[in-house]
Amino acid sequence: MDLKSVIRTIPDYPKPGIMFRDITTLLTDARGFRRAVDELVQPLAGAKIDKVAGIEARGFILGGAIAHQLSVGFVPIRKKGKLPYETIGETYDLEYGTDEVEIHTDAIEKGERVLLVDDLIATGGTAMAAIKLVERAGGDVVLCSFVVDLPDLGGADKLRALGKNVTALVE
Ligand code: IMP
Repeated sequence: MDLKSVIRTIPDYPKPGIMFRDITTLLTDARGFRRAVDELVQPLAGAKIDKVAGIEARGFILGGAIAHQLSVGFVPIRKKGKLPYETIGETYDLEYGTDEVEIHTDAIEKGERVLLVDDLIATGGTAMAAIKLVERAGGDVVLCSFVVDLPDLGGADKLRALGKNVTALVE
């Protein structure tokens, strides 16, 4: 089964000219969801991972399933203002304006090896902010895993240029 066949493309969403890759159809498909999680977990056999950090919101669904499979804890990286305890935040640039993600100050212990998960990497701005948060919280991002990489937007290469390991299931 080809994962691409269960990812839907919505033209002109959220604005004209954007081809939005919609993975909700992959999640709805039992075999697609299982296959995606299995393929993201497989390369980690034998690797020491202490925590999975998932980026709101689709990174929670995939990251939660991966953390369960690895028997490790899950850390939510959320949009500003959603986490109830003490947080640290990182802002990042959008096409117009900025956005901010946050993590709980006590979510990661010093030196923990963290797997970062999201559904998709485009420019890499969101993932970069998430990496900075995990590192400021004391963790070490050992791998960044995505279902989809949009290589024309250069995000995965940007992360690799900074020495990060990046995997994606489809381009
Ligand atoms: P980046 O910061 O430009 O790499 O954008 C990645 C973030 O935006 C991720 O959290 C994605 O979930 C979201 N995103 C951007 N484009 C798409 C898309 O085509 N489909 C699904 N999510 C997207």
